Amino acid sequence: MLQNPSGIGFQSTLLSQLGGVIHGFSNRSAGDMKYSSENRDLFAHKLGFKTSPVLAQQVHDNLIRTVDSQTMGIVPGVDGLVSRDVTVAVVVADCVPVLLVDPIGKVIAAVHAGWKGTVGSVVGNAVGEMVRMGGDVRRIYAAIGAHIGGCCYDVPVERVDVFVNRFGHDEKMAFQSDGKWHLDIGWLNYRQLIEAGVLQDNIDAPPTCTSCQNDEFFSYRKDTKETYGEMMAVIGFK
Ligand SMILES: [Zn+2]
Repeated sequence: MLQNPSGIGFQSTLLSQLGGVIHGFSNRSAGDMKYSSENRDLFAHKLGFKTSPVLAQQVHDNLIRTVDSQTMGIVPGVDGLVSRDVTVAVVVADCVPVLLVDPIGKVIAAVHAGWKGTVGSVVGNAVGEMVRMGGDVRRIYAAIGAHIGGCCYDVPVERVDVFVNRFGHDEKMAFQSDGKWHLDIGWLNYRQLIEAGVLQDNIDAPPTCTSCQNDEFFSYRKDTKETYGEMMAVIGFK
């Protein structure tokens, strides 16, 4: 479950129980995180971070990069960041944010999975990189933040074909409702975590929908140009 501690966005109850780890998902009231580094720093500071998070540029692909204390700002060309020492973050509004940590192996990751990244199993790539950096998949905990639910993500049938060709038939992944095809990319990221070896009990995947809960979350589809912003998912060590 995601909980809202003292009005500074949301946290996963699962990740909150881990010692030495700080994480958070911002909400609408924290303001836009894509273009405002002030908003990012303010949110990170409220969570307890002392330095600015390193951000992935996010190009809707499936590449992950490991960053260290030499890295600052925005890392180009990647949709996920892995680190052993710096705070990492992604920004989203409808796409799926995933935060990961091996608290014993001391490896964290922040992942942005839009539909293209999900086709490319970007979250599976992040788990693989965490293991390469010394993580153990059986110790990895993951939290999936607010994203557009299958309820509100209707897509052209051609996109469904891409997913079925890649992942096979899965009625949780692709289904028809009101005569339209819908995709549940949050479910598919959960499935990819399981397939990567992450334990079911170590995954926090609360049911949320940025469109249905648009008063709380930014949504690329639901918001207008005037009301749109992006939310940050951030994780680091104390
Ligand atoms: Zn919805």
